[in-house]
Amino acid sequence: MKFEGGCYCGEVRYVAEGEPLTKAQCHCRECQYLTGGHPNVILGMPKDGFTYTRGEPARFSRKDVEQPRTREFCQQCGTHLTTHSPNLPTGVFVKVGSMDDPSVYGKPAVVIQTADAQAFHHIPEDASTHERWAK
Ligand SMILES: [Zn+2]
Ligand SMILES: [Zn+2]
Repeated sequence: MKFEGGCYCGEVRYVAEGEPLTKAQCHCRECQYLTGGHPNVILGMPKDGFTYTRGEPARFSRKDVEQPRTREFCQQCGTHLTTHSPNLPTGVFVKVGSMDDPSVYGKPAVVIQTADAQAFHHIPEDASTHERWAK
C-alpha cells in the first residue's frame, strides 16, 4: 500500500509505501498522554518506504528509561506523526490520525497493553488482545 499524511497545520508531510508490518492499538499509559486519553492506533510501515516530503518533525526520546522510543511530531501544531521503537527495528509506527485518509487503516489486528485500558476505551471484539506486549 501507499499513502500520504502529515500534521494538522500542514507544515510536515510524509509518504509511506510498502506492506504494513502491523496494525495495532495500544492502551498503555504513555499512549493515553499522547492521544489526550484514548489508545493509540498505529500502522507499522517499513522504514525504507517512509519519507518526509515537507518540513522536518521535532523528536523526543525519554532519557530516564531503557530502550526509549523516539516520537516524531510537528513542532508547530504538536500533531504526533510516528514512533520509532526498538520493538520494530525495520519499521516505523505511523499514527493513523495523521494519514490523509485514516479509513484505509480499517481496524486494528492486534490490541496491546489492555492492562492499562480505561473504562471509556473501546476494544474491538475480533482483535487479538494482549494484557501487555504481543509476543
Ligand atoms: Zn503541524
Ligand atoms: Zn502505548
